[in-house]
Amino acid sequence: MKIAQLFGKGKTVFSCEVFPPKKTSPVDSIYKTLDGLKDIHPDFISVTFGAGGSSNVNQSTAEIASIIQNQYHITAMAHLTCVGCTKGEATEILAQLKNSGVENVLALRGDRNPDFPPKEDFLHANELVSFIHRRGDFGVSAACYPEGHPESPDLITDVRYLKQKVDAGAQHLVSQLFFDNDDFFRFLERCRIAGIEVPIEAGIMPVLNRSSIERMVSLCGASMPRKLTRILARYGDHPAALREAGMAYAIDQIADLMAAGVDGIHLYTMNNPAVAKQISASIASIRNV
Ligand code: FAD
Repeated sequence: MKIAQLFGKGKTVFSCEVFPPKKTSPVDSIYKTLDGLKDIHPDFISVTFGAGGSSNVNQSTAEIASIIQNQYHITAMAHLTCVGCTKGEATEILAQLKNSGVENVLALRGDRNPDFPPKEDFLHANELVSFIHRRGDFGVSAACYPEGHPESPDLITDVRYLKQKVDAGAQHLVSQLFFDNDDFFRFLERCRIAGIEVPIEAGIMPVLNRSSIERMVSLCGASMPRKLTRILARYGDHPAALREAGMAYAIDQIADLMAAGVDGIHLYTMNNPAVAKQISASIASIRNV
């Protein structure tokens, strides 16, 4: 099923994201994560694409997407990046996805890594979106940034480029993580003013650990509301307390987003199915409304 078809049925779409295991781990180690996630019945699961050769991540995105689709019978979405593949490589990966029945791709530019020169056949995500869309075989999704992409000069320019991705064929958008729902609501308004009508999922990452959240925030530029900095200041050195407070914060964010009628929630699960399960259990009745 194409992901865009999941929307507009009166329910908030609920999706999860996993990443391929490290190169030192076998691909099979993903089964433990997927076994946990299947119990929460996500509408789809997406699989990230590591920067080509630049990280210690096992480049098995297509293989894992196929496992999700064919062994777990959950709609899968494979991420693909401009910096990580040439046109030839993209064609090969798309053929592999098609052969295994994976129908959805999240087309991204990818983050540049100074140690590894980016591939340059596609400079921006809109070019990759268009390349995939023209083949006609895939539902194409793209990324969006409620607080603007860190390289954007301003929020309006950012939404203008986002509109280019939608015009190029992106039928669904997934947002970067954010901690202040008002940032997301203001972003939705800018999108609607710009004529972006496709479903937009809100990306949520629970704060579970001080160092990982500080690293994410410095990478993606998400701002921290005072409520969250207070939590980090008070519980940052107490892992169990931080986990509890971070989960409560994420659940509160999701309940508010769903009350506002957002199209979907995309949970950055960090391959931690226990967290996804706890969140899912906490919003079980909300999901059914
Ligand atoms: P683009 O849409 O190309 O935008 C990048 C910047 O260029 C923005 O500032 C934009 O405003 C500007 N821009 C866009 N189009 C143009 C244009 N035509 N001309 C000039 N400027 C333009 N990274 C990975 O490596 N692997 C992953 O699996 C991955 N998954 C992600 C999933 C989600 C949901 C999100 C939100 C991000 C993900 N990322 C991933 C990170 C992403 O690759 C980075 O945020 C990257 O810096 C931007 O990607 P993009 O697709 O938004 O790029």
